[in-house]
Amino acid sequence: MEVKKIRIVEVGPRDGLQNESKIKKLELDELIACRVGLITKLANSGLVDVEAGAFVRADRVPQMAGTDQVLAILQKDHPKLWKTKKFWSLVPNRKGLELALKAGAKHISVFTATSDAFNEKNIQMTVEESLRELKPVIKEAKENGCSIRAYISTVWGCPYSGKVSPGRALGVAKTLLDFGAEEISLGDTIGVASPKQVKEILELFPKSMPLAVHFHDTRGTAIANCLEAIHLGIHSIDSSCGGLGGCPYAKGASGNLATEDLLYMLHEMGYSTGVQLDKVCEASLSLEETLELSLPSRFYKAWKGSK
Ligand code: MG
Repeated sequence: MEVKKIRIVEVGPRDGLQNESKIKKLELDELIACRVGLITKLANSGLVDVEAGAFVRADRVPQMAGTDQVLAILQKDHPKLWKTKKFWSLVPNRKGLELALKAGAKHISVFTATSDAFNEKNIQMTVEESLRELKPVIKEAKENGCSIRAYISTVWGCPYSGKVSPGRALGVAKTLLDFGAEEISLGDTIGVASPKQVKEILELFPKSMPLAVHFHDTRGTAIANCLEAIHLGIHSIDSSCGGLGGCPYAKGASGNLATEDLLYMLHEMGYSTGVQLDKVCEASLSLEETLELSLPSRFYKAWKGSK
């Protein structure tokens, strides 16, 4: 039987870290060293796609301060990884893209949502306005030889307006692909989807569309949703080492699906990922110790308990 391959996009060092509020405050140089350590450990576990940071305002997102220096260290001290891995940088706008390009970024992520209420709270723009803003960002990034991934938030529900019309994500995805995005990551931002809703929405999309899924484990359904998505033909999944990244819309609840939990299920089912699970656990352990965190991944906890 042919072994099916699943590609994991590791979002811990960006999406995970920036949503952690209870972390030990580090000096900027310590934070940068900690992030570089995490990114390189994850890349050395076999992960090819690793989110490295975001070019956003440091006063608003202090966890992402110094992303330019993170990229500089990766280029200087880890040239082989820099050449062979995809280190993704999130940019919210043109200014962010300029900074990312200046820092040598080659893989750019952009984001919008399906819900005006969510976007207005998050970036003070409607969905239409944000798409207008992203068009030149994607164009310029492509002209500079970058690959582009686009996140769509609130595909399965919005924290402010509740249910979102199932077809909404498809329209936004088509527009982003028309602009030149090469991959669309569909996000369940508040972690409300069940496999039934995953099927309802994914079946609306053409099979040829380059999609990834980004499920949050807020209500414990993320891994079931991944399996449903795989059965529907998806082979790219976002996850976060240790389950790093709480849910900003449900205090104390889980956000990102843990990479370790996903890898365990996939490997046990015979899927290949190219990733060494114990090495991801070691990356999580080192982060947990440095930031004095408690990571929620079930597999990781079991691994730690058995050591
Ligand atoms: Mg997330």
